[in-house]
Amino acid sequence: MPRPIEALVHADALTHNLARARAAAPDARVWAVVKAAAYGHGIARAYEALRGADGFALLDLAEAQLLRELGWRGPILLLEGAFEPRDLELCSRLNLWHVVHHVAQIDWLAMHKTQAPHRVFLKMNSGMNRLGFTPTAYRGAWARLDALPQVDEIALMTHFADADGERGIARQLQTFVEATRDLPGERCLSNSAATLRHAADAQVRADWVRAGIMLYGSAPDFPSHDVAHWDLRPTMTLRSRLIATQQLAAGDCVGYGSTYTATGPMRIGIVACGYADGYPRHAPGLAERSTPVLVNGRRTRLVGRVSMDMLAVDLSALPDAEVGAEVTLWGHGPQGSTLPIDDVAHAAGTIGYELMCALAPRVPVRLADAAPAAR
Ligand SMILES: *Cc1c(COP(=O)(O)O)cnc(C)c1O
Repeated sequence: MPRPIEALVHADALTHNLARARAAAPDARVWAVVKAAAYGHGIARAYEALRGADGFALLDLAEAQLLRELGWRGPILLLEGAFEPRDLELCSRLNLWHVVHHVAQIDWLAMHKTQAPHRVFLKMNSGMNRLGFTPTAYRGAWARLDALPQVDEIALMTHFADADGERGIARQLQTFVEATRDLPGERCLSNSAATLRHAADAQVRADWVRAGIMLYGSAPDFPSHDVAHWDLRPTMTLRSRLIATQQLAAGDCVGYGSTYTATGPMRIGIVACGYADGYPRHAPGLAERSTPVLVNGRRTRLVGRVSMDMLAVDLSALPDAEVGAEVTLWGHGPQGSTLPIDDVAHAAGTIGYELMCALAPRVPVRLADAAPAAR
């Protein structure tokens, strides 16, 4: 029997969440952001469920190629654009649209030989200071691109740093709107957080939205809002089983570093899941602060440190849980139970994005049956 850990991808939930993106931005076309192997879900696995999107946005040219091999003939956008001049050859060959965010990328285009002119997304650095032309340099970059025979349409794009938080998008939006006021072209502004939280702002309505994390059933602004608030469904389950139990007496400790000490008689279970599976090692299992886990669909908590291949859970309230019991690290558990990935991420001091993307290659992943069922 293989080690009992596995991850499930819920295709119906991906499709549901994509519909939520559409509903939140009814006048826009939706890029399904599938970078980082569709946030750890696997592009090939997510593709059928997300092919109702208007296009796929990603970074990696190999992933763009994979989408073409899967049969996708619609738009594909490279969010970081070309990394070197010869990337443009693949863009020409596979009809990839690409972001232009620095001067060298314009130089490469000017030297590029192509039959079909490229569609580009010109990125403005409106305040995040990651990628893009400053508002002052933007117009000059636009004019240069506009004059190139290698370039067809130029869409205008920026990215918000605080769409999920208190600061919001007003400042960056104002910068973008002012600097692009008289430029023609489609607009592409919002990520998931801006799409969900700032939909009422008329200025943020654009031709395209870039939906990432919301497609994968994690709330971009947790804990301000959770997935239930945004009506998003979990798309990934990580589950395993108990492979041992231990009976502790007062004073007994658990795991490396003996960070958890039993205060009285207590039963614990050992789960076949550790940080080498992608479970966060920094998830706390302390008396005063712990991380939620489901055993047989019932919520309990981590005890002690996460080790490479195992972690321990409190079975005090679960006298029936024996070796073989189903353990849900996040996602769907038995009997309709769920453990939102955001609850686990928050307890571990990180975000759902990181947990999904960190799922380790040694964990077998498969598409779940339509309804999340018990094994
Ligand atoms: C990753 C990414 C997105 C998607 O962001 P989410 O928060 O996952 O919705 C959108 N735009 C750009 C430029 C990105 O890199």
